[in-house]
Amino acid sequence: MKKISLMGATGSIGMQTLDIIREHPDKFQLVAMSAGRNIEDTRKIINEFRPKLVSVQSEEDAIKIKSENTSSMIVLFGEEGLVEVACQHDADIIVNAVLGSVGLYPTLQAIEAGKDIAIANKETLVIAGHLVMKAAREKGVSILPVDSEHSAIFQCLQGESEKNIEKLIITASGGSFRDRTREDLLGVTVEEALNHPNWSMGAKITIDSATMMNKGLEVLEAHWLFDIPFDKINVLLHRESIIHSMVEFHDSSVMAQLGTPDMRVPIQYALTFPDRFPRKQMSKLNLADIGTLHFEKMDYERFRCLAFAFESGKIGGSMPTVLNAANEAAVDLFLKGKITFLEIEDIIEKSISKHNTIKNPSLDTIRQLDHETRSSIYSL
Ligand code: NDP
Ligand code: MG
Repeated sequence: MKKISLMGATGSIGMQTLDIIREHPDKFQLVAMSAGRNIEDTRKIINEFRPKLVSVQSEEDAIKIKSENTSSMIVLFGEEGLVEVACQHDADIIVNAVLGSVGLYPTLQAIEAGKDIAIANKETLVIAGHLVMKAAREKGVSILPVDSEHSAIFQCLQGESEKNIEKLIITASGGSFRDRTREDLLGVTVEEALNHPNWSMGAKITIDSATMMNKGLEVLEAHWLFDIPFDKINVLLHRESIIHSMVEFHDSSVMAQLGTPDMRVPIQYALTFPDRFPRKQMSKLNLADIGTLHFEKMDYERFRCLAFAFESGKIGGSMPTVLNAANEAAVDLFLKGKITFLEIEDIIEKSISKHNTIKNPSLDTIRQLDHETRSSIYSL
């Protein structure tokens, strides 16, 4: 029985992680969970899974939840609560499925507590990959990828030596606006941007897919997870999202991992690694039905956010922190209807172009820069 502590249980990845736990009640147990503001779903999860520890974002909600549960369940809130969920002493593995840079500090604390981490929360690796991977190496902790592309690469690398990698090929569906020109993007609505052709995901990552920033964040994520320089990371447009990513080796052999677009497959693999469990409710890949797969060269002028991410990654230091914070704030403003779709790019470009990078930033520097970058965008 593997005991799971789940950060971000009420989100898209969180709910799909619960599907996996539900499907294998003899193999997995939910011992702790965190949520943000979605109290309705938090109540449902508590009733079904009876975790020992629950954390929510606000004190007010924590008091409500506690008053409704007479059991010995511990209810906490805020960052302190998130850290407790991340370090839950009973847990064999932490699933980090929170959204954004809020996941960084609890992740570092979980590593400090010696917990293996299945990581969906890519922003944490983007802004502090150097701190996370170093701490994980020192503590002998595994960081298991949940993001489908990184799970694909991780699967292709089993039994292989990283020194034989020629390049990583990360596939991109292109998001909701992949067939539009830049002129076509003037005046697009939030609803249109949220309509992803292949994947059903949380709102922020769906917008990131439409701007291609998601792929940019994934390039940075891959750089840290697999210790690969940026000039060995390629991005390929592949509209069907069947090949989740590939690895080319020095001998020109290319390994790929394929599957239907279903995040429960990489989530489960991170939980069962190095084993694989059968899935009951799974749609199997049928290539004969699909018939044809398409590939296109990536256009960095059309998808400027991807170019910003590569540039920021190559500059390194604190630049990816600013890139990420500017993106999180800009996407939030777009979702609230306060800026247009193309203004997301403009805000990110301005933020990174005025930042003088700080080499090897500490946790405090990263947190401060993250805060300052957001504040300057919200006060515009
Ligand atoms: P969602 O927005 O659906 O869920 C985010 C989760 O984090 C929710 O449980 C939310 O709580 C919680 N949360 C948000 N802000 C805070 C906060 N300040 N404090 C505490 N909890 C908070 O996101 P996704 O599940 O789509 O994505 C999660 C992560 O996984 C992201 O980093 C994303 O890039 C990555 N990812 C997602 C994929 C997907 O298919 N969705 C695929 C690959 C990676 P609540 O809702 O209760 O407010
Ligand atoms: Mg992905």
